[in-house]
Amino acid sequence: MSSSSSEQQYSNLAQENVPAPEIAKVRIEDDRTGMSEETLKRAIADSLYYVQGKGEFFATLHDYYMAVAHSVRDRILQRRIKTAETHMENRVKTVYYLSAEFLMGRYTGNSLINLGLYEKIKTVLKESGLELDDLLEKEREPGLGNGGLGRLAACYLDSLATLEIPAVGYGIRYEFGIFEQVIRNGWQVENPDKWLSFGNAWELPLPEYRVEVKFGGHTEVYDDRNGRYQSRWVPQQKVSGVPYDTPVPGYGVDTVNILRLWKAEATDEFDLQAFNAGDYIGAVGSQMFSENISKVLYPNDDTMQGKELRLQQQYFFVSCSLQDILRRHQQIFKTIDNLAEKAAIQLNDTHPSVGIAELMRLLIDEHQMSWDKAWDITKNTFAYTNHTLLPEALEKWPVALFGRLLPRHLEIIYEINFRFLAEVRRRYPGDLEKISRLSLIEEGDERKVRMAHLACVGSHKINGVAALHTELLKKDVLHDFYELFPEKFINKTNGVTPRRWLLLGNPRLARLITDKIGTDWIKNLDELRKLEKFIDDKEFQQNWRDIKQANKQELAKLIQKSNGITVDTNSLFDVQVKRLHEYKRQLLNAFHIITLYNEIKKNPQADILPRTFIFAGKAAPGYFIAKLIIKLINAVGSVVNSDTDVAGRLKVAFIPNYNVSSSQFIYAGAELSEQISTAGKEASGTGNMKFALNGALTIGTLDGANVEIREEVGEENFFLCGLTTPEVYELKAKGYNPRSYYESNSQLKEVIDLIACGQFSDGDRGLFNPLLDSLFNQDRFMLFADYQSYIDTQAKVSQAYRNKENWTRMSILNSARMGKFSSDRAIWEYCQEIWNIQPCKVSLDEYSTDRAGLKIL
Ligand SMILES: *Cc1c(COP(=O)(O)O)cnc(C)c1O
Repeated sequence: MSSSSSEQQYSNLAQENVPAPEIAKVRIEDDRTGMSEETLKRAIADSLYYVQGKGEFFATLHDYYMAVAHSVRDRILQRRIKTAETHMENRVKTVYYLSAEFLMGRYTGNSLINLGLYEKIKTVLKESGLELDDLLEKEREPGLGNGGLGRLAACYLDSLATLEIPAVGYGIRYEFGIFEQVIRNGWQVENPDKWLSFGNAWELPLPEYRVEVKFGGHTEVYDDRNGRYQSRWVPQQKVSGVPYDTPVPGYGVDTVNILRLWKAEATDEFDLQAFNAGDYIGAVGSQMFSENISKVLYPNDDTMQGKELRLQQQYFFVSCSLQDILRRHQQIFKTIDNLAEKAAIQLNDTHPSVGIAELMRLLIDEHQMSWDKAWDITKNTFAYTNHTLLPEALEKWPVALFGRLLPRHLEIIYEINFRFLAEVRRRYPGDLEKISRLSLIEEGDERKVRMAHLACVGSHKINGVAALHTELLKKDVLHDFYELFPEKFINKTNGVTPRRWLLLGNPRLARLITDKIGTDWIKNLDELRKLEKFIDDKEFQQNWRDIKQANKQELAKLIQKSNGITVDTNSLFDVQVKRLHEYKRQLLNAFHIITLYNEIKKNPQADILPRTFIFAGKAAPGYFIAKLIIKLINAVGSVVNSDTDVAGRLKVAFIPNYNVSSSQFIYAGAELSEQISTAGKEASGTGNMKFALNGALTIGTLDGANVEIREEVGEENFFLCGLTTPEVYELKAKGYNPRSYYESNSQLKEVIDLIACGQFSDGDRGLFNPLLDSLFNQDRFMLFADYQSYIDTQAKVSQAYRNKENWTRMSILNSARMGKFSSDRAIWEYCQEIWNIQPCKVSLDEYSTDRAGLKIL
C-alpha cells in the first residue's frame, strides 16, 4: 500500500538535504543561552511575555513557572543540539532503552540542578518576590509509570546522560498517566490524571519523524524477484506514531540525551478511504482506534492484564522505536549490516519484547535480509532485564489474540521457536518435558505466547536486578534457559540517582555532606564513605539530627495538609511507601500497629515508644484485596488516632496519591524504612535504597537488594527479620499452616480477632473477611510465619531509637555506605558488560558553527 501524499511530505522533510545557509550558522546566544543572573532574569521576562502572553497584571504562578521552564529549556536545547551533532559526527554506538513506563518526576527542579542553575534562578526570582519552590510545585508530574520499574528507567536516563553515554529512552506518551488517588471514607478512589491539560513545557513534537504502524489483517506468501520465498503482511489497520522529545540533561556535563515518547494518531490514509466513500463522520470516527492506543497507562504493577489494547500499546511503541532506530542508523551508516555494533537495545522487562519479532520482520520483510543474518543481528542487539519472580506478572498472550493483532509476528515467533526447539532437541534428545517447558508457546486449553521465553532466546544477555533475584532466576524461574545458555545470565543490581534522591530531594542533608566532603559524591557516590571519619564528631551528629528533624517537620506539614492529622515530630517516623501489593506485606505492618494498640489498651501506662506510622501507595484499581488493605490501614488509623488511651503515642497516616514529588519529602523525613516483603518475592526494590541514602534505618527481610544493603551497611546497622528464601521454600514444601501460628500465638490471635470482631469497622464483622480468609486459606506470602520475628525486631528498633546518639551513628553509616546503590554504578556495569559502549564527551565550548548535521536527531 502506498503512503498518502502528506505522509510522503513528512518523510521527505526528514530526509531532504538542504545545504546549510548562513542564517543556520549564526551562533545562538544572548537571552536564550546566557547563564548570568541578569540574562536569566531577562529570559524569564521574555518567556512570560512572548510564550505565555502575559504581562504583570495577568500572570499567574503557573505562568511564572512556565516562563522559568521555557528559559531553562532554551539552555538545555542548545546542549541537546550540540550533543546530537557530536554523536553523529563521531558515529557513536547508542543505547536504546525501551520501556513501557518512565516515571520521571517533575522535570524543572531536576534540570536546574543538572545544569547548575538552581541557586541562580532561586536568587533571581527572590529579587522579584517569587519563591522558586512555589513555582516548581505548579508543574504537573508526568506519571507515566506505576512504580519501581518506571522509576528505574528514569534513574537510568539520568545516569546515562551524566556518564555521557549516547542514549535514547523510548516509550509511550500516555495522555493519561497513573491515576490520581484520593481517599474517601478510607477507601481508594481513582481520578483520571489529566497531566497535559495545562500544557507541557518540556516536550517537543517532531511530526516530520512520524512513522506508520500496522495492525491486524493477514499474511500472503509470494516469490520475490530473486525467486525467494517471502511473506507479505496485509494489515487491516494503520496507525501513525508521532514522536515527542523531552531532553534529559546530565549532571555537570553538556550531554543532553532524549526521552522519545510516541503518541498514536490516525493516518491520513484511512481517513481518506472513508472520506472518498462519502463517509465523513466515519472517517473521523476511525481516529478512535488509533488515538485510543496511547490514551492511558495500565495501572497494574507486577500483574499481567491480558487486554488487547495493552498488546496494541506494546507493539505500537516498539514498532515506532525500531523503525526510528533503523532510519537513524541507515542515515548515518548507509547500511544496517553493522546494527549490532552501533546499537544496543535494552528491554525493560518483557513489555517491549515483541521487538525481537518486529526487528526480525523489518530486517527480513522490509530489508530483504536472510533469516540467519537477521537473527544474528537481532540476538546481538537485544538484551533483556527481568523484573519479577511472581508468576502472575509473567506476560503470556493468548495465541489467538496475538495472531489476530500481529499475524506476521506470530509466524516469525513460530519460526524462531521451530529453530530453537530443534537446537533443544539436539541438546536433550527425547526430553519432551524439557521441550514443552522451554517452548515459546505454552500448550493447554488456551495456547499462549510466553514473552519471557521470546526475550531469553532473542537476547545475548539476560539480567536480574539484584544478586538474590538473579540467583533465583537461574535456580527457578528461568532455570531451563540457564542450563542452555549459562553465559547469557548476569546480575545488575539496581541503583538510584543521587541527583534527584539526595541533592534535589534532601537539600539540607546534601549541603551538610558537601560542607564535610566536597561535591565529588554527586557524581561518585562512593565518596560518601568519607563521612565515616566524622561518625564520632558530636557537632556533626547534632547537625545530622537537626536536619532529620527539619525534614520531619516538612513531612509533618505535608501530612497536616493532605490528611488533616497532626503528628508528633519527636516520635519515630516509621514509613512504608510503595505500591500496595500482598507480597510487599503492608498488612504485616498494620498487625504491628494493632499489636502495640492492644498493649496500650491492656496497660495504658505501658512504656511504648511514640511512633508515627506513615503509609502511602496506590493499589491497582482492579486489585480488590490491595484496596481492602488500604481501607484497613485507614480504619486502624481512625481508631488509633482518636483513642484517648493512646494519647498521641501512636499515629497512623496514609498519605494519598503517592508519586515521585511526594516521595521526595517522604524519603527525606523517614527514620525507619519498612522493607518486609516475603523473602524471594521482591526482585530488588529501589525504595529501600532511597530511604537508606537519606539516613533511614531499614527493618527488612533478606529479600531483593535488602540483602546487599545489609552487606554494605553492616548487619549491626540493619534490623533483620523474617524467614530466609530457603526457609520460605522449605515451609512451602512442608505445608504452610497459618492456623497453627494463630492458635499458638496469643498476640497474633488478639490482632486477628480484633479485626474479625469489627473493632475497626464499626462492628461490621464481614468487612475484612476477604483479608482474613486469604490469610488463613491461601496466603502465598506467609504473613503469620513472619509475625513474631517482625514484632520482636520492631521491639529492638524501639530500644535502639531511645539511644539518640547511637541511632544517629547508624543513620550516618547507612547514608555513608550507599555508594554501591548509585544508578551511575549500575549503568556503568551495563555499559561494560552488556552494551559494550563508551562515553562520548560533548563540549559546548568547542561549539562548531557548522550546523549541517542538525537535521539528524
Ligand atoms: C522508588 C519508587 C518506587 C519503588 O519503591 P519500592 O519500595 O522499591 O517498591 C515506587 N514509586 C515511586 C514514586 C518511587 O519513587
